[in-house]
Amino acid sequence: MENKKPLLFSPGAWICAIIGHRFEVSQNITQHIREYRCSCCGEERTDTAQGFMEKLTPKFRETNEFLSNYYKRRCSRKMFKKAEISNNILSEAS
Ligand SMILES: [Zn+2]
Repeated sequence: MENKKPLLFSPGAWICAIIGHRFEVSQNITQHIREYRCSCCGEERTDTAQGFMEKLTPKFRETNEFLSNYYKRRCSRKMFKKAEISNNILSEAS
């Protein structure tokens, strides 16, 4: 039976501790709020309403999911209204 001790730090975490994280956008929540993931160690961050970058906690994840759904519904409603207005203009012109 092999009893391995878990690593305290992954190699990626060591590299990030020395040279810093390399964040890439993993998800666009709204036009101003994004989620980021470090390509080296996998740490996740998010933009907050105050404009700071915070660690992505379960609470932030839940808030972002709600915001994303709200934003998508709002955008689709705007697109529907624009299409409806352009259809009305076309029908009035002909
Ligand atoms: Zn990192």
